Parts: sequence; C-alpha cells; structure tokens
Amino acid sequence: MLNYYIYAKFIYMEILTCPKCQGNQIVKSGVINNKQRYLCKKCKYYFTVNKIGKKIDDYYVTKALQLYLEGLSYREIERIIGVSHVTISNWVKAFHIKKPSHANYHPTYKIFNHLELVEYIKNKDLLSGAGMIITELGDKFMLIKWERFKD
Ligand SMILES: [Zn+2]
Repeated sequence: MLNYYIYAKFIYMEILTCPKCQGNQIVKSGVINNKQRYLCKKCKYYFTVNKIGKKIDDYYVTKALQLYLEGLSYREIERIIGVSHVTISNWVKAFHIKKPSHANYHPTYKIFNHLELVEYIKNKDLLSGAGMIITELGDKFMLIKWERFKD
C-alpha cells in the first residue's frame, strides 16, 4: 500500500498547481461560494477549484469510484480529488460498489499532460503484457496500469 500512498501524494501535488505560475506551494485560504479558495505562495495569486463544496460534480463521483475499484483506499482518494473519505464511502454504498480482490496484479499510476501521454503510448514495449486505462483528471490524464500477465 505504500506505493499507492506515494502515487496518491504525487497526483495531489500535480493537480494543486497555481493556474498562473504553475507553482505548487499552494495553501488553503478560506471558502468562497462553497468553493475552497487557495493561495499560491509563490506569486500570491488566489484561485478556487471546482472540487470542494456542497454539490460535487458527477465527474468527481465517477473518478472516486474508479479509483476505489482500482484498489485505492478512501483516504488516498480523498487526497487525490479533495473530497472527504466519509463522502467517498457514502458514494460507494450508494452505488453498491463492491471491490474485487487485487491479489493478482498491482496497479501503478502515472499523471501525464497530453504530449507526455502521446509519447508514452508511442512506446509499444510499455503497452505489451499489461492492462491499462486512461482517464481524464482535471487538465491532465491519469494512466492506471496493471501488469497482470507478469509474475
Ligand atoms: Zn502562482
């Protein structure tokens, strides 16, 4: 599970970058209109992210359930999409999601921008012997890969 934790942290940092300077020294700075406001410590720019609030977009419900099915814990998903683990656990119950066991394969996660994703997929060696899904995540793409045919 340590591996998941590292990836989850990585993803979280990747998403929370300043839209102005792409800095990642972001701190929470109050809530405005039910949206979490953030402050970039580097360039002092304030911005909000459409992730936290009373009504959460179906988009994040879908992402949370996907990550849950791929074997991440509620708290790991909380770190990635910024929705509380209690809420995520409620979604899992509400949609009657039952996670299969992951004894036979070990997923890894990568976050790419579009060009990086294209470059990655060009390399056939990285695609053979593995299953993967690509899912949009904010303005980036998340590639979940599991090497199920390796021992
Ligand atoms: Zn900034």
